[in-house]
Amino acid sequence: MAAPEEEPEAPTEPLDIACGLENVPVSVWPPGAVPEPFQYTPEHVAGPGADADPAEITFPGCLCLHRPCVPGSCSCLRGAENYDADARLRALGSAAGRAPPVFECNALCPCPERCANRVVQRGVQLRLQVFRTRRKGWGLRALESVPRGRFVCEYAGEVLGLAEARRRIRLQTPRDANYVIAVREHVRSGPVMETFVDPARIGNAGRFLNHSCEPNLLMVPVRVDSMVPRLALFAAKDILPEEELSFDYSGRFLNRMDGEDRGRPDDGKLRKPCYCGSRVCSAFLPYDGSLYLAAEPPGEGPGGRAQETRSCTPPGQEGAQVASQLSPGHMAAPLNWGTFPSQMRPAAF
Ligand SMILES: [Zn+2]
Ligand SMILES: [Zn+2]
Ligand SMILES: [Zn+2]
Repeated sequence: MAAPEEEPEAPTEPLDIACGLENVPVSVWPPGAVPEPFQYTPEHVAGPGADADPAEITFPGCLCLHRPCVPGSCSCLRGAENYDADARLRALGSAAGRAPPVFECNALCPCPERCANRVVQRGVQLRLQVFRTRRKGWGLRALESVPRGRFVCEYAGEVLGLAEARRRIRLQTPRDANYVIAVREHVRSGPVMETFVDPARIGNAGRFLNHSCEPNLLMVPVRVDSMVPRLALFAAKDILPEEELSFDYSGRFLNRMDGEDRGRPDDGKLRKPCYCGSRVCSAFLPYDGSLYLAAEPPGEGPGGRAQETRSCTPPGQEGAQVASQLSPGHMAAPLNWGTFPSQMRPAAF
């Protein structure tokens, strides 16, 4: 009978890269492999230049002490319910590419922890695993099936100011993976809210997610205690156990059939190849040069679709842009090149 040490096939002693900070351990495959070191945080932390401390509580609570939080009486629910009875996100997106903003009940709300409007804040509930992919470095998967609409994890890291986000991207070498994501949300009345998150040094399991042109996750900005959005990833379809989890760094999930970005010229920049393997793969990772350019407000989408609507959630037209660093050779590294939240679409390049 062989000693357990000699039978490395089974992921026994799982290394928990979450260091016990999530509800469930985040294991690593193959056993014995260890991703590059980084500091684990389940939630955003304030980084250089951040406009607001993500840990601060600035939203008022609702007044639902003796009744459940439901639209109409709960001030946290400005539209319809955000989640169904099984805690699945209801507005997973429609062909229109719009989604209502999501505000969960917060630290000042009197409702119980089990309030149906508290999902993302409860953290990871699935057994996630960081695993080595064939061509994309590390990837992330769930060891159980994930029904459509279910919250998977956040894309959490240091919240940065624009200057710091640009500085970090410029410091990257072609071989570095870019983890910085720029999320731009368009508010009905005009202002664009920008959030820059870098999970490279301090981040959560979401930093291991790879891009796919046909993703199974959708990123949705979700607000709990303040206007600093949590970048929540939800299952966009039913996902099988051990299927690699991915999202579209360009945020095009809802619009991916438009193919607007496909084969697009790249302004002379070298683009990184995409190895997602999807039938609809656009061959390159999404690129957004905005963080390389002089500061300028994201343009008002010139043409395009119907304009946005409520606060916080963009439809898909103007420019959500991502911080991307796309140089060739990059693939060895795990992941991200920036992203937009789901309902956005890359700006006009
Ligand atoms: Zn309430
Ligand atoms: Zn509330
Ligand atoms: Zn509530």
